[in-house]
Amino acid sequence: MSELRELYQQVILDHHKKPRNFRKLAEPTGAAEGYNPLCGDRVSVELELADGVIREVAFQGTGCAISRAAASVMTSEVRGKTPEDALALFERFRAMVTGDAEADPEAGDRLAVFAGVREFPARVKCATLPWHTFNAALSGATEPVSTE
Ligand code: ZN
Repeated sequence: MSELRELYQQVILDHHKKPRNFRKLAEPTGAAEGYNPLCGDRVSVELELADGVIREVAFQGTGCAISRAAASVMTSEVRGKTPEDALALFERFRAMVTGDAEADPEAGDRLAVFAGVREFPARVKCATLPWHTFNAALSGATEPVSTE
């Protein structure tokens, strides 16, 4: 298990150092801002919805390694999905980081790298902030998202 944990940490650090989809979109159809006052994480998520599919999704912001890596992995995972499938993924992610569901790394579960976050309750909000913000961007929320 410790080897697996080390691998997970490497994945998180890699996404933190080289975040995927860290940019602005030219023509977003939805956008939202998120803030986690507990840690100071700030994230903005932009997405482009076309023909019922999330064509593009990108983020910007400042925050800890967990929030940045979570945003990076999230944007990679939800692209090409329908909003329904993306939100189902959010539910699974939330269940995994809060410990309500087990991760299954053998099933190629790329969200599983965040399962270790459950051992650090203060970090759960760092990991879910990008997802909450994405959800707000999808539903056209105008108020910034706060985890508090
Ligand atoms: Zn954080």
